[in-house]
Amino acid sequence: MARGKFFQSVSKYFDRAASYSAAKPGMLRQVKTCNAVYRMRFPVREDNGEITVVEAFRAEHSFHRLPTKGGIRFSRRVSLDETIALAALMSYKCAIVGVPFGGAKGGIMVDPANLSLGFRERVTRRYTAELIRKNFIGPDIDVPAPDYGTSEREMGWIADTYKNLRMNEPHPYACVTGKPLGMQGIPGRKEATGLGVYYGIRTFMEQSEDMRGIGLEPGVAGKRIIVQGLGNVGYHAAYFLQKQGKALITGIIEQEGALHAKDGLDVEAVFKHRRDTGSLEGFAGAEFVAQGQSLLEADCDVLVPAALEDQITAENAPRIRARIVAEAANGPVDFDGQSILQERGILLLPDLYLNAGGVTVSYFEWLKNRAGVSFDRMFSRHEQLNKILIVETLESLTGKPVPEPIRKELVQGVSEKDMVIAALDQTMIHSYNQIHHVWKSRGLPDLRTAAFLLSIERIAESYAQHGIFP
Ligand code: NAD
Repeated sequence: MARGKFFQSVSKYFDRAASYSAAKPGMLRQVKTCNAVYRMRFPVREDNGEITVVEAFRAEHSFHRLPTKGGIRFSRRVSLDETIALAALMSYKCAIVGVPFGGAKGGIMVDPANLSLGFRERVTRRYTAELIRKNFIGPDIDVPAPDYGTSEREMGWIADTYKNLRMNEPHPYACVTGKPLGMQGIPGRKEATGLGVYYGIRTFMEQSEDMRGIGLEPGVAGKRIIVQGLGNVGYHAAYFLQKQGKALITGIIEQEGALHAKDGLDVEAVFKHRRDTGSLEGFAGAEFVAQGQSLLEADCDVLVPAALEDQITAENAPRIRARIVAEAANGPVDFDGQSILQERGILLLPDLYLNAGGVTVSYFEWLKNRAGVSFDRMFSRHEQLNKILIVETLESLTGKPVPEPIRKELVQGVSEKDMVIAALDQTMIHSYNQIHHVWKSRGLPDLRTAAFLLSIERIAESYAQHGIFP
């Protein structure tokens, strides 16, 4: 059976990076191989009483660390190969950002745009029950999260189903991340992937030498950015690029068309317009382009594909005019597409680094669920008292009172969200620096090869430490 294009691309990226590794062939095969898959078909009742048989998958790619971790995708084009490729990317992603998990992914073959709430819930709960039946879910086994077509709502149903079927589990909510806050979720998880995309782009753009190498001045401010996909990742990436980075979002591409505005779009207003009307069309102050995908080829500084895989291939790569392609989605640029972009001097920020913010914050949520206490509970008041002491000392030394609005800001205790976001920021900076070091010090062709090589070596080292390959 011919393997999917996405799967082939991930394999080729792996093989190219592995050719720079000193690890033995057997070890490389183990790092590359998907360790377990569960392919299932189950009946779900439609709202009209009819039965539909749903096909779904869960792939656990690597057991070098447990639990395995990865999102659950609702999409008509889900396949076993796609799920395995995404699970593999999760293993490499976790290794890059220092999250001690193996990689996994789930896919359910349904169209997320055409599901009633009731059907959605029944599918999600039944899928969870199937995973429990085969031991493919659990706080120490495999921990899902949101992905394309799913959100905190589905994660809440998974947690609830698990909790009720696993009565003796000490930390049942640690079986899934990306949950609603009221079900032991963590503040900041919803925006984590998109915010991480912004932090990753910002970190790269602060490198003066690398930026000048591609003909751009350092810094995010004023850069013209086009984003494909206004879902969880695309919306938050665009929002933070605009709000914090002061970039101009000159284009937003969705399934029904695109918006183009050379002076920049108000991302929040576009999002609300689409939510309220169901389409980008009719948004005031921007040109609506019915052939939305044509905007992928428009002139801009950064193109951020944040929808699905295989969006930039050998077919359209020769026409891409961005200076940087920032892979917010998983696998949006295929192997041949990347070769062409590279020949044309277009820099690529790879998915396995750039969208790792989601799994990073998921890790914090899992830790919090295991500990049974939120991160700020133990520190917040203590930190506030220390800050009050510093402000009072300052006042007594200067003989002047600190103005009230400044005092209020200075003496705040740290919130759980502040801690999560600072740790995410730090993770994206630190991981980029490590990939950059491998890229330059080992003379590798591009950042993706460097990111793959770094993760291959970390996973191989972990297997070796565990004595799997003594
Ligand atoms: P989502 O379902 O919230 O949003 C996806 C959006 O893309 C939707 O609005 C959809 O209409 C749009 N879309 C679909 N096809 C399109 C097309 N051809 N052109 C333009 N827009 C299109 O999904 P998401 O969670 O934002 O995930 C997007 C990508 O990011 C996926 O590749 C996913 O694997 C990856 N990702 C997600 C997370 C996460 O935390 N959610 C983490 C890491 C990676």
